[in-house]
Amino acid sequence: MTKMLKILSLLLVITTVVFAAGCAEQGEEGAEGAVEEMPTYYVGTEAQFPPFEIVDNAGNVIGFDVDLMNAIAEDQGFKVIYQDQDFSGLIPALQTGNIDIIASGMTITEEREGQVDFSEPYINAGLALAVTVNNDEITSVEDLQGKTLAVQTGSTGYFKAEELKEAGIVAEIKDFPHVNEAIEEVRIGGADAMINDLPVTNAFIAAQPGIIMIVGEPLNSESYGFAIREGNTELLEKINTGLQNVRDSGDYDELISKLPMYMEEEDAAEGNVTE
Ligand code: GLN
Repeated sequence: MTKMLKILSLLLVITTVVFAAGCAEQGEEGAEGAVEEMPTYYVGTEAQFPPFEIVDNAGNVIGFDVDLMNAIAEDQGFKVIYQDQDFSGLIPALQTGNIDIIASGMTITEEREGQVDFSEPYINAGLALAVTVNNDEITSVEDLQGKTLAVQTGSTGYFKAEELKEAGIVAEIKDFPHVNEAIEEVRIGGADAMINDLPVTNAFIAAQPGIIMIVGEPLNSESYGFAIREGNTELLEKINTGLQNVRDSGDYDELISKLPMYMEEEDAAEGNVTE
């Protein structure tokens, strides 16, 4: 009898929980009826790339690219869901339809333009060389003869390192999925220097001073764009129109104003495409 009661009360609990869950779901659907009409796009990002994308303590992807993409989405009436993954897998994920947009500090390059469509450029950043703070031997690219470089896999820093290797300057390239791993390799002496986007290296230095420093002038100037599957003109138009609206409203400048500590002054200004 007691057993029977136990089973009965357990059943009652289960029914209540299921019923409550059903109500909650219904409530949400009802309340968000209009929202559900909005298209949802999956945004791929490699969220270990401050100040553009990082994961906060609560596990949310935050950063400049996220703020800008959210502002564009709001302006254009679509929803976004961020998917954190390795940088080198972003273009394949876009091509296979696992994601719809790349917002990941991705430089617009000619080679990538053959694989994806890019939005209008939304910020400029250049590559910079960095070494450990006590290194007085390497002060510019000219000092890289026979040296080992650490870079992020598939990044423009990686392509620059390959160029330097093909030119017979750099001896070896070690590549890592994330920038902090390349920094660590330099710190432990496994590589002599690293090449990475200047604002990002600056952000790491600001977060953890006393490990590496930037040397020499920026190696180039690059423009970041949002990438979309080739031929997805409807989404491309939404992103470009949204970006223009966010610029016109002054919201873009507000986001930029949070960045100057990481940027070269002229890079923080909006503008020039460099390909
Ligand atoms: N801007 C660089 C590139 O596009 C690095 C981007 C990144 O690592 N998120 O290759």
